[in-house]
Amino acid sequence: MKRSSRITIHPEALQHNLKRAKQVAPNSKTLAVIKADAYGHGSVATAGILHQIADGFAVSCLPEAIELREAKISKPITVLQGHQSVDDLRIAARHNLRLTVHDDRQLSLLDQYSHNTSDNTNNGFDLNIKIDTGMHRLGFQPERTAELYQKLSHHPLVNADSLMLMTHLSCADELDKENTKQQLDCFTDATKNISPPTAIAKSIANSAGILGWEDSHAEWIRPGIMLYGSSPFANNHRDEHSLKAAMTLQAPIIAVHDLKQGDSIGYGASWQCPHDMSVAVIACGYADGYPRHARTGTPVWINGDEAQLLGRVSMDMIVIDIDKREKGTIQVGDLAELWGENLSVDIVAQHAETIAYELLCNAGIACEKSAYF
Ligand SMILES: *Cc1c(COP(=O)(O)O)cnc(C)c1O
Repeated sequence: MKRSSRITIHPEALQHNLKRAKQVAPNSKTLAVIKADAYGHGSVATAGILHQIADGFAVSCLPEAIELREAKISKPITVLQGHQSVDDLRIAARHNLRLTVHDDRQLSLLDQYSHNTSDNTNNGFDLNIKIDTGMHRLGFQPERTAELYQKLSHHPLVNADSLMLMTHLSCADELDKENTKQQLDCFTDATKNISPPTAIAKSIANSAGILGWEDSHAEWIRPGIMLYGSSPFANNHRDEHSLKAAMTLQAPIIAVHDLKQGDSIGYGASWQCPHDMSVAVIACGYADGYPRHARTGTPVWINGDEAQLLGRVSMDMIVIDIDKREKGTIQVGDLAELWGENLSVDIVAQHAETIAYELLCNAGIACEKSAYF
């Protein structure tokens, strides 16, 4: 979308954050998660930036993987949701994609494919077997792990050496909850009937697992949000994990004016000036991916310091309090930072009662990404 707001992506921050994941889990390989257009950062650009450091990439669905292959990204690519049809299997074979199987329907598609195809898929499909240890979204029952491993490691269309067992944590961002420990125990139990247990690689950890649960590291980690410089934990932000902002969202000031005590600001007249004060209007609203539910008081960075949001967020504008600034120091044309290098997206998300994931994805959809530097 053509707007006056703009996103800048910081390649060295992306690289730093992935190296940080490797440092925290030094014995694991890394599957950099770049689904949803790399959380709004641009998946092809991000894959290029991380190519030298990542051992592979993960996306949600086939179209995302195809986009990367068409852009000549040659690293292993995992499709976390796997195939939904025989056609998907053909595409995966053609583009050399690693699939994830999470239910019996996908196994029958694999059998149908082997009966119907004359393709020679060289070594067979590279596959993850997804086990449901408590998320109850995707995955096979844990009791079936050994049986599935048996079946798939002898399947003519599966590359047995590639098989990996995978599960996903539902509460790793809440360090005091029991769920993660239960999921880890469940996964260990499920995998112990495979002989030898070292016969197959395992992958459990998202960013919260990497940073908060050492026992979840296993052979492959799957960092997502931390790559983009955001903390997966609700009560802290990037600095505590030595992460750097990978995206800065900026927009220009388009008006500066003085209001009188009692004047109300924006839709719903929900905020009234407690005294005479100066405000500035920024050309950024929910159409730019800025969260509509950001409350009065949400920080915005302008000319070296924080200012506070006043009243409701509109489609194309917000109003901020600049009363404490010296007259003339904030002018039309100055660029405000909505989040980024100077202001953590986690803090903005907290003020909007959401998570940084959502803000990054939405801004990425809405805004043009400026030249990388
Ligand atoms: C999105 C996703 C991740 C990455 O999660 P973050 O919380 O962003 O680190 C890892 N694994 C799976 C299966 C996912 O869907």
